[in-house]
Amino acid sequence: MTVVRYERRGPVAVVTMNRPEYRNAQNSAMTYALDEAFYRAVADDEVKVIVLAGEGRHFSAGHDIGTPERDAHVSFERKAVLWWDHVGKEGAESRFARESEVYLGMCRRWREIPKPTIAMVQGACIAGGLMLAWVCDLIVASDDAFFADPVVRMGIPGVEYFAHPWMMPPRIAKEFLYTGDRMPARRAYEVGMVNRVVARDELETETFALAEKIAAMPRLGLALTKKAVNQAEDLQGMHAGMDSVFGLHHLAHAHNAETSADSLAGMDPKSMKAAADGS
Ligand code: ZN
Repeated sequence: MTVVRYERRGPVAVVTMNRPEYRNAQNSAMTYALDEAFYRAVADDEVKVIVLAGEGRHFSAGHDIGTPERDAHVSFERKAVLWWDHVGKEGAESRFARESEVYLGMCRRWREIPKPTIAMVQGACIAGGLMLAWVCDLIVASDDAFFADPVVRMGIPGVEYFAHPWMMPPRIAKEFLYTGDRMPARRAYEVGMVNRVVARDELETETFALAEKIAAMPRLGLALTKKAVNQAEDLQGMHAGMDSVFGLHHLAHAHNAETSADSLAGMDPKSMKAAADGS
């Protein structure tokens, strides 16, 4: 089964994560398939807008930390950063190499896609799933969608793409991280993290209506506008801020590896869920 589907609907390319049996948990196979799909959409002159979707009930449960197709120890041809492969390296060297490429690097690469991107989010959008929604320019959420970054439970200060204090006010970001609580779509709308909240059965119609509207604008105008806003965000410290937090993130992984079962503090999807349910 293909882990990412690609289709064209007029001027809109639809890139769909397709591991619904694992709530679209993102392994490296999916990461590189997403990259290929985005590349294809950028190269196609007929495509004006890109929609990122998740098959099934949930947008994304985050990075794959426990499915049978977890492929963290597999080499892929690197696309995002000029760094050596993580395979065959040990400890922090391996983690830093891998996460620089497949998490921070890939997300930054996708944020710079020179065409407007819209995340169409239903159900869970957790941790690594947030990164995928956040790199998109707009987010349309259904009323059953929720957002969470529970990795503080692993002793880690947020996911690798640390955009939190730019995606929501800093005080809200702290609450979001400190509690690991689910932020419902309505609340995400209130704090400015999503553009629209619509009924679940209208999610697709509303998202594509928005995409079609944007698609009527000139290509270069859209690309320059995107660059303008992204540059403004970076002038507000987003790029440099994420670099500095990436160091803290890896300090946390290393501390976990030194003092517990592994770099995730021995947590897996099961124990994360149990901890969340118990709180
Ligand atoms: Zn990490």
